[in-house]
Amino acid sequence: MKITIVAGARPNFIKIAPIIKAIEKKKNEGVTISFRLVHTGQHYDKNLSATFFEELNIPEPNCNLNVKSGSQSVQTAAIMVAFEEELLENFCDLVLVVGDVNSTMACAIVAKKLNIKVAHVEAGIRSGDITMPEEINRIVTDSISDYFFTTSTWASENLIKYGTEASKIHFVGNVMIDTLYQNLHRITKPDFWEEHQLETEKYIILTLHRPSNVDEEQSLNKLLLGIDILAKDKKVVFPIHPRTKAILGTSVLEFKNILFVEPQGYLAFMYLVKNSFAVITDSGGISEETTVLEIPCFTLRENTERPETQSIGTNTLVGVSIEKLQETYSSFLENGKRKSGIPELWDGKAAERIISILLEKL
Ligand code: UDP
Repeated sequence: MKITIVAGARPNFIKIAPIIKAIEKKKNEGVTISFRLVHTGQHYDKNLSATFFEELNIPEPNCNLNVKSGSQSVQTAAIMVAFEEELLENFCDLVLVVGDVNSTMACAIVAKKLNIKVAHVEAGIRSGDITMPEEINRIVTDSISDYFFTTSTWASENLIKYGTEASKIHFVGNVMIDTLYQNLHRITKPDFWEEHQLETEKYIILTLHRPSNVDEEQSLNKLLLGIDILAKDKKVVFPIHPRTKAILGTSVLEFKNILFVEPQGYLAFMYLVKNSFAVITDSGGISEETTVLEIPCFTLRENTERPETQSIGTNTLVGVSIEKLQETYSSFLENGKRKSGIPELWDGKAAERIISILLEKL
C-alpha cells in the first residue's frame, strides 16, 4: 500500500509524526506499506516547520510544494495546482490528510478529483462557527473523505448526523496525544528559563493566533493589558508569532509581566506547558495537551470543536472578552483546579490503530 501523507502547518507536523512511526513499524515487521511525504509549504518559517521535523524525527519531505502565504483562496488554489501535479507524477493508493488547515482541504479535493481515496485524521470535529476558515476546511474535507478517524465519540456522532456511513468511521483516539506521550521524556527547558528566572508553577503560558484575537491592534492591546494585570505576581510567557508582534508595534514595551519570546519548538513548548501554573490560549491543540498534562487551560474563544477538553479535561471556554477572563481566572484562584480526566482512547496508540485499520480496509 502506497500512502501520500500531506502536512502543511505546525499542528500537522505534530500529528503526522506518530503516523509515520506506525508505518515504519509495520514496514519493519515485513508488511508491504510505504509512504511519500508532501509538505505543502503553508508554514515555512524555521520556527514553525523545520524545527518540528528535527525535534520529532520526521523524515525530510519527499516533495515541498512551497506555496507559502497568501489569502485563503490564493493559498488553497496554489496548493491544489501544485498537489495535482505531484499526484499525477507519483501514484498512490491513498492520500492521508490531518486536521483542518487549508492544505487538508485543498489536497483532499485534488485527490478525490483524481479518484484517489482519502483518509481524514481528526475527522468530525465541529465548532459550529462557519466564520472560522478551519470549520469550512473540516466540513469540505469530511464531505468527500473515504476513511474517517476520530478523536471522540462525539466527532463520530457528528459524522453520522451529516450522513456518513458508520462503517467508514473509526474512533481511534488522538494522534496529537500520541506525540505528547512519545516525547514527554525528551522535553527540555528553553534557553531563556534561567535568564528570566522562571520557576515551576510560577508562570502562565499565553498563546494567541486566531484572527479574531490578534488582527486588531486595539483589542489585542486591551486583552494583553488585562492579562498583564490579572497575572499579578506571575510572569506570562508569550511565544508570539512575528505577524502578531508586528501588529503590536512598539507597545510591546508597556507590559510589566508579559515575556515575549519566539514561537517555541515542540520540546521546549511542552516543557513550558507541563511546568506552568495555567495556560491561556485560543488554540485547539493546546487544550488537548493541557487536558492530558492536567494543566488548567482558559480558552479565549466563544466555541470549541473539542468539547471533551471542557467536559472531561481541564479546559474552560471563557469567551473573548478580558472581563470574562478576569472573572473566570479569579474564580479559579479561589476554588483551585477542578477535577478532570483523560478522554477515552487518548492513550498514545491512535496512529497504530489508524495504520492497522487502513491495512485491513485497503
Ligand atoms: N506549539 C509549539 N510551540 C509554540 C506554540 C504551540 O510547539 O510556541 C504547539 C503546541 O504544542 C500544539 C500546536 O503547536 O501542539 C498547536 O498549534 P496551533 O496553536 O498553531 O494550532 P491549533 O491547535 O490551534 O490548530
